[in-house]
Amino acid sequence: MRDRILILGGTAEAAALARRLVDEGETVITSLAGRLPSPPSLAGQVRVGGFGGVDGLAAWLAENAITRVIDATHPFAAVISAHAAAACARLGLPLRRLERPVWRKHPGDRWHWADSLEMAARMAPGLGRRILLTVGAGSLAPFTRFGGPFYLLRLLAAPAPLAFPRYRVVIDRGPFVPADEMALMRRFAIDLLVSKASGGAATEAKIIAARRLGLRVLLVGRP
Ligand code: NAP
Repeated sequence: MRDRILILGGTAEAAALARRLVDEGETVITSLAGRLPSPPSLAGQVRVGGFGGVDGLAAWLAENAITRVIDATHPFAAVISAHAAAACARLGLPLRRLERPVWRKHPGDRWHWADSLEMAARMAPGLGRRILLTVGAGSLAPFTRFGGPFYLLRLLAAPAPLAFPRYRVVIDRGPFVPADEMALMRRFAIDLLVSKASGGAATEAKIIAARRLGLRVLLVGRP
């Protein structure tokens, strides 16, 4: 029997993997949560929206005769990863996790760590006055509670009105290159970058740019 592969996606790595597997002749369905604008094009089939917890995911896997699951979701998407593990265990389906390599600290890097978004939000005003915040639309709320700095928010789509006292939004989608990241940081006189410690090459340009400009970086550890 031919494989029918479900990729839990929403990342650049998931899109690249779908492309590769489709080119190899595999049947691939990529699942997206549907809260972010979809990537421009995805190889293979695409389904959008939550499954309805572990039970919903298990039912969907059975109904769609999936034979293998690849969890290529973002490192901070911990709920869907746990659901995938539980549903695959229940059905006896093979599950693989596509894990991004962590970013390596270089000599001279001025990295600070927070264990959670809430902790990062409390720390940020003590580390910078003009902050580039790249944690994603779903993770902004804690940062609105600690006013003071100017926040430059980079997002995939225009947000609903936000409760930051002082902020600007730039709408952009990677992949980015360090030179452009440096130009953005210089243009807005950024003195602190706040990022999830997502790892991987696709979003590392901002880390490299901060390194080259000697800026502080506040990283939120992976869940
Ligand atoms: P999450 O907290 O782990 O999941 C919350 C719920 O969203 C899940 O219980 C599931 O709903 C649904 N869901 C999540 N990913 C899904 C997928 N690929 N296909 C179908 N349903 C999915 O996830 P999150 O952190 O909100 O992230 C949502 C999506 O955005 C993920 O696919 C992730 O790869 C992508 N993303 C996340 C981040 C981030 O920083 N968290 C950054 C970039 C991209 P049901 O229980 O109803 O099935």
